Amino acid sequence: MTCLRYANLLLATSCLLVATTGPGPGRAAAAEAETEQKYGYDDTPMLPGSPWRVHDRNRPQPERIIPGQTPAEPPSDAILLFDGTDLSQWEGAGDEAIEDGAINVLKTKGLATKRTFGDCQLHLEWATPEKADGSPMNWGNSGVFFQGQYELQIIESHDARIYADGIAGAIYGQSPPLVNPARKPGQWQSFDVVFTAPRLEGEKVVAPARMTVLWNGVLVQYHQQVLGSTLHKTLPTYSSPAATGPLVIQQHNSAVRLRNLWIRPLDLK
Ligand code: MG
Repeated sequence: MTCLRYANLLLATSCLLVATTGPGPGRAAAAEAETEQKYGYDDTPMLPGSPWRVHDRNRPQPERIIPGQTPAEPPSDAILLFDGTDLSQWEGAGDEAIEDGAINVLKTKGLATKRTFGDCQLHLEWATPEKADGSPMNWGNSGVFFQGQYELQIIESHDARIYADGIAGAIYGQSPPLVNPARKPGQWQSFDVVFTAPRLEGEKVVAPARMTVLWNGVLVQYHQQVLGSTLHKTLPTYSSPAATGPLVIQQHNSAVRLRNLWIRPLDLK
């Protein structure tokens, strides 16, 4: 059985090699499509729960996009929420909140995107103040609220730490991060998040929201269930059946800085 599995693995690998060592990126799209057709099949088993066969020759290709040169650089299909110069995507702040290409959250009333989002991929970079500007409950406190309701926490978590489900990278009040890869106060840090919006029918939760989060490139939340809207000292519940909502940045009386915010709306089904 092991040998058979190994043989199957080799076969699958060799097929993959054939399929990926073909024409370079300079070939015309038509030639690429022809190649894809050539290497597909129409006599293989149907994948369970899918309208497609294994290696289906007719299965649509994922859209080609141009990735950024670094993971932080927005890909071509991202919506730029803040590129260092422009707050036109937001409500809650004027240009006086922009300092050296970053948003000083303390100079906002809190921020909310003009657009609304459901499922999405978000990149943002943040830095807590270099020196404490309040108690550990306040130093560097901000946060990203998906759909205006579900908070991924931002707070100083290197030189100060509050309760585990309240440090940075926590789904606030619910799930601490798997590890704490915090950088020192004042240093730039990053979040890369895949957010799946909850599926609600009236008051019935068909599927809860979920978050997968990389903090400074480290996995800290994996497909983590969100129990409901973020609350303080009480249990979360789902209250709004809206399918989308604004991305909201919390203003919590600390001079947290933000830069390089971009988002890709998704439809994760
Ligand atoms: Mg917060």
